[in-house]
Amino acid sequence: MERKLRVAVIGGGIGGLTAARALLLRGFDVHVYESSPELKEIGAGVALHPNAMKALRSLGLEEPVRAVGYQSSLQQLRTWKGRTISSTDSAATAQRFGAAGCTIHRADLLDVLAQSVPAKAVTLSARCAAVTTGDDRGIARFTDGTEAEADVVVGADGIHSAVRASLFGPDAPQFTGKICYRSVIGVAALPARRIEPYEGLWLGPHGTLVVYGVRRGEAINVVAHYDDPSYQHESWIAECDRGEILGRYRRWHSSLREMFAAGDTWYKWALYDRDPIPAWTKGRTTILGDAAHPMLPYLGQGAGQAIEDGCVLAAALGKLADDPSAALQLYERSRRPRTSRVVLTARARGDDNHLVSPVAALKRDMLIAVRKRFSKDVTGRGEAWIADYDAGSPEALAG
Ligand SMILES: Cc1cc2nc3c(=O)[nH]c(=O)nc-3n(C[C@H](O)[C@H](O)[C@H](O)COP(=O)(O)OP(=O)(O)OC[C@H]3O[C@@H](n4cnc5c(N)ncnc54)[C@H](O)[C@@H]3O)c2cc1C
Repeated sequence: MERKLRVAVIGGGIGGLTAARALLLRGFDVHVYESSPELKEIGAGVALHPNAMKALRSLGLEEPVRAVGYQSSLQQLRTWKGRTISSTDSAATAQRFGAAGCTIHRADLLDVLAQSVPAKAVTLSARCAAVTTGDDRGIARFTDGTEAEADVVVGADGIHSAVRASLFGPDAPQFTGKICYRSVIGVAALPARRIEPYEGLWLGPHGTLVVYGVRRGEAINVVAHYDDPSYQHESWIAECDRGEILGRYRRWHSSLREMFAAGDTWYKWALYDRDPIPAWTKGRTTILGDAAHPMLPYLGQGAGQAIEDGCVLAAALGKLADDPSAALQLYERSRRPRTSRVVLTARARGDDNHLVSPVAALKRDMLIAVRKRFSKDVTGRGEAWIADYDAGSPEALAG
């Protein structure tokens, strides 16, 4: 009997578990190595746009994700003072792109992904220190001195990837001068006790505010971006004082201040940007997700792109199973141009969202309205190419 291709996935986060699920569905012998002692996520939400939902559909995970997520009926884009710039009907978005988006707590998404992979295929408390890779196999070395050899090694170990560093050396993060505050707030604690008055995207001078429902609408996820060159700590778990947020947004719409006041625990992190890297693959080792293309959060595509990567990697290995090195090159050819474009578009979007000049902001808002009206651009921001993509379709593989 022919031996199954062995794939070692380093990292059991959103990208690693999705890749494992996709590879298992194609019959590969997959094992995930995760550094944490349990599969868990930080307390925050994540937006899954239509492209991410189509990819999850191709893995049989759309329904379980929707069952624990939240779906808005209207996507509102507003100014910091509350004027509506645009409203997009979610049903129209779903019809246009072939799937509705969904917003979800990261822990709930990770639970769905973890349940889709057998527990025996995951080793916890396994921190990869480095990989060596050749023409016929890759070897991951762990900090406890153990090793895992596989036909293919996949680095899905996040923004500070040890696999990427091992293949290509250290990266060069650039501080953007922008920071982010976030909190998850129970709807019962909100003054309106409803999501809709706050929900959507708010754009103002120096800032962007993103608010959406999670946990079937029992809570809202708030991500508040602001220009601040003085805070440069790139951590997702550093807490901060609520008074700081209230001060920052004191001139924004009054309903937002009430919402901020309802948040008990606030986190603060500095946003770093990294240029797209010119290669992901060496021999039998490749990378995916944040390890391959860390990006700014302005398009809400970090998780979506990681999920797409997993689907396309599995499809490439499925197509060229007898030549895994060629399959990894096919995967990279298929994914790197798209993700690089997403990285650069997210960078530009941050600047466009934070415009300070009222004239420039008005021009932006008018352009959004014109695009929506005359170009049939659903969101008015020229990003239909992102949601149009279907990672589960044969066209996702480069020719
Ligand atoms: C607060 C917040 C909000 C976000 N909001 C959105 C959003 O709305 N929409 C969106 O699409 N994206 C969002 N993102 C980005 C998105 O979460 C990431 O892009 C996505 O998680 C990338 O998945 P990943 O699997 O590549 O990395 P991660 O999710 O970071 O997973 C990496 C995994 O590897 C493990 N690991 C790390 N090092 C090692 C090692 N050496 N050995 C073994 N295991 C290791 C980690 O413990 C982790 O489990 C957000 C991110 C944050 C922090």
